[in-house]
Amino acid sequence: MSQATCRVAVLSVHTSPLELAGSGDAGGMNVYIREVATEMARRGVRSDIFTRRTDPDSPDIVEMSEGVRVINIKAGPQRPVHKDLLPRLVRRFIEGVIGYGPYDVIHAHYWLSGVAGATLKTIWGTPLVVSFHTLARVKDIASPGDPPEPIGRKRGEVRVIRVADRIIAPTDTERDQLIEYYDADPDRIYVAPPGVDLDRFVPGDRAAAKRRFGFSDDPLVVFVGRLQSFKGTDIAVSALRHLTRMVPDAQLAIVGGDSPRGAGGERMRLRLTARRLGVSERLRFMEPVGHGELPELYRAADVVVVPSASESFGLVALEASACGTPVVATAVGGLRVIVRDGESGYLVERRDPPSFAAALSRVLTDPGAQTRLGGNAVRLAHRFPWARTADGILDAYASVTACPDIKRALAGSGVSPIL
Ligand code: UDP
Repeated sequence: MSQATCRVAVLSVHTSPLELAGSGDAGGMNVYIREVATEMARRGVRSDIFTRRTDPDSPDIVEMSEGVRVINIKAGPQRPVHKDLLPRLVRRFIEGVIGYGPYDVIHAHYWLSGVAGATLKTIWGTPLVVSFHTLARVKDIASPGDPPEPIGRKRGEVRVIRVADRIIAPTDTERDQLIEYYDADPDRIYVAPPGVDLDRFVPGDRAAAKRRFGFSDDPLVVFVGRLQSFKGTDIAVSALRHLTRMVPDAQLAIVGGDSPRGAGGERMRLRLTARRLGVSERLRFMEPVGHGELPELYRAADVVVVPSASESFGLVALEASACGTPVVATAVGGLRVIVRDGESGYLVERRDPPSFAAALSRVLTDPGAQTRLGGNAVRLAHRFPWARTADGILDAYASVTACPDIKRALAGSGVSPIL
């Protein structure tokens, strides 16, 4: 068999796929990049993932799996820096990457990498594909009370959208937002929903899972993610107070770390809120859990809550669903695709604590409904294997490069069409 020759340069300037997701800047994007690169390599398309070096002791090149390398590029201080300071380091990042190319395709993740990709596209003469993961204008509209996203980010997004050969959107909603708010060319947008590892995220024994993490048998609500007000952690805590009026023994676990890293503020703020509301006894904070252990945590939960202000997709909701745990989520973005209201969980239109408490109590007080919702959640999650995400992305690659490995990889997905 001939050796694969097609190579993708994956750019992930601000966070490494090797980082533990769930704190700092590491979240769904890290999981996404890891899973997609692994799936592509399985089908003969190699990836080099370039990220900014944040530790002087890490090696230049880490072989993440066969056909997938993570390359740490020196650009600025060799330690984590706040996201707002990263734009001025992009130039040095580009200089560090140039010598490794050219590649057949550049796939940039998040706007910062998009900016780097736009320059590398010109230098190497290579097509540029971009996944934004979040968009500044969408975030601003979703939470008008929060400080607006930096103007440099908005300008950067506009420029990247203009020069990218292809843009990958996770949902039709984001496709429409790209067109409406950024005047993106509809023909260049490909929709490819993210996925979940359906071998690992599977249903199991809830009581055993609860014991494993030291929870009592009481009804358990779980929040998983980076601790940010944008994610609605404060809504989850305040909802607990309302919930305990309807389900007195309900407990809440908040799993994740402060974001930005080292900010230290959000968890402390939440503790104070819980104390003020008199629910500290029913609330437990947990450090980020490794991706391998998360299925068991989702299985421990009677319901997973995702009160985000906006969510480009929302991997946590999908992973919980795959484990048979109903999800109560804000009716926004990708969460509308993952959760079917009344079928696999509940979508909350009014993003406030009483509305979330009401939806959570509906799940917790009706054991029959819980089995039904959980069963439907698993069935729905099975529409989202990572292999299908890879198909969508390869389709976009194939439209901009003639590299034969990509066509072969597309043919070799083994995924049946969406039912
Ligand atoms: N995650 C994790 N451990 C944690 C918390 C989160 O591995 O303790 C992972 C989680 O499994 C999911 C990702 O981080 O894959 C979060 O993705 P999501 O799309 O929900 O949110 P984002 O971080 O992209 O805003």
